Amino acid sequence: MAAPIGILGGTFDPIHYGHLRLAEEVGRGLKLDEVRFIPSGTPPHRGAPQVSAIDRVAMVRLAIRDNPLFTLDERETRRAGPAYSVDTLSELRAELGPDRPLCLLVGADAFLDLATWSRWHELFALAHVVIAHRPGFPVDTWHERMPQPLAREYAARAMQQPLAVHLAPAGGVVVTAIAALDISATMIRECLRSRSSPRYLLPDSVLDYIERNALYAGG
Ligand code: ATP
Repeated sequence: MAAPIGILGGTFDPIHYGHLRLAEEVGRGLKLDEVRFIPSGTPPHRGAPQVSAIDRVAMVRLAIRDNPLFTLDERETRRAGPAYSVDTLSELRAELGPDRPLCLLVGADAFLDLATWSRWHELFALAHVVIAHRPGFPVDTWHERMPQPLAREYAARAMQQPLAVHLAPAGGVVVTAIAALDISATMIRECLRSRSSPRYLLPDSVLDYIERNALYAGG
């Protein structure tokens, strides 16, 4: 069976080292063939991004360009209207065939929110879900923060051996500890708005792009 493909969706508003480290550690640790960054168009779960899809895509392109494991997939930004992960994964499944393992990479915050996603139960038929630790969402609090239906899926699908994602196309849940980087795009936008520097929270190439295009300047 060909090695799994990782999918990392996000608003990337802007992309930062928390995203890149998650992709790198899960990509290497699970021996993925590729990690595909898929910037969202109009995210269904949250307010509109602060900058255009064109700028968010450009920043992802700059951030990943030196890493041969990372690729960019612009399909969600090209779709008119809301882009649901379940639709994106269905498209990828149709393109890649029924046997190719797919891994949906999510931080712990995104996983705890999963039961609010459109047709979320269907996600498990399309991909494995790989949950990365994230500061602020300690594992010992997950159970009290997880709604019952999600807790049931989590318990039923947990894989003890992460590399088992190579053995089936979809359906497992893997939890993985990664370097704890307490970085968020919100934090970076706030730095920029208050004119303090977010340097070293994100790649210099992305910060240069933000400065050149006067993004997130606020008032
Ligand atoms: P915002 O602050 O605007 O909500 P964010 O920093 O959480 O943004 P997203 O683009 O919403 O970034 O995140 C995309 C994915 O990356 C999500 O699955 C999220 O959980 C994960 N992620 C983002 N930052 C980290 C981090 N520091 N550690 C682990 N996972 C992260």
